[in-house]
Amino acid sequence: MAQVIAVANQKGGVAKTTTAVNVSACLAELGKNVLLVDMDPQGNATSGSGIDKLRVRHCIYDVLINGAPSTSILTKTDWERFFVLPATIQLAGAEIELVSAISREVKLRRALDPMRNRFDYIIIDCPPSLGLLTLNSLTAADQLLIPIQCEYYALEGLGQLMSTIKLVQKHLNSELTILGVLLTMFDARTNLAIQVVDEVKNHFHDKVFKTIIPRNVRLSEAPSHGQPIIVYDTRSRGAEVYRELAKEVLERG
Ligand code: ADP
Ligand code: MG
Repeated sequence: MAQVIAVANQKGGVAKTTTAVNVSACLAELGKNVLLVDMDPQGNATSGSGIDKLRVRHCIYDVLINGAPSTSILTKTDWERFFVLPATIQLAGAEIELVSAISREVKLRRALDPMRNRFDYIIIDCPPSLGLLTLNSLTAADQLLIPIQCEYYALEGLGQLMSTIKLVQKHLNSELTILGVLLTMFDARTNLAIQVVDEVKNHFHDKVFKTIIPRNVRLSEAPSHGQPIIVYDTRSRGAEVYRELAKEVLERG
């Protein structure tokens, strides 16, 4: 049975998508069968995995709103054991259309049921909001991976995320736990980044992953080539740290 991990933080630009794509690729490299689910209408996880959004005819929108089977949109990447349920901008409509839908928070969970015995890991890339697309993701997930950028206001908004998680645990998904908190875009040259690491560790203790993701130019270049970092520059520091993180994910699983 797959372990379902949602990568969530309602802040934009904290490396959710970078982490979702690269952890997926690294887990596949370690021999696991991996499904990456793109729940962000921006579709960056889709294109970052090398899938041309212009050629995607049906996406996760059709699954959530029109009841299309998830198997009908299952898309292969160029890499072994790494599959995607793609998103296009059409998904933006789902946030509103779901409001009036029956069982609106459990659409994704139900859609993933037939995927659970086909994969070892299902990684969900959440959008930067706490709306219904994120609620669906938290309801479908067994565990959460929360990226936090080592910047000013790093902890801002996390209270809101934690209350949302508590609500989901109470009403929709009592099994949901936090797999780990990931520090991203760390720059060892700044005192601020070092301070943020301390602050986050004081707050989340052993929930914080040992692996800290540094700022790395190669990581920011890889998406425009539609490649995970381990393909784009397999010897880069970015590739090294995401491989380390994937191992930690395996160990914590
Ligand atoms: P989110 O999905 O949370 O909005 P992204 O993963 O899209 O965040 O990352 C935001 C931007 O930061 C992207 O342009 C991405 O390429 C870049 N980025 C992410 N992680 C790193 C890193 N470790 N070093 C440098 N740039 C990064
Ligand atoms: Mg994103």
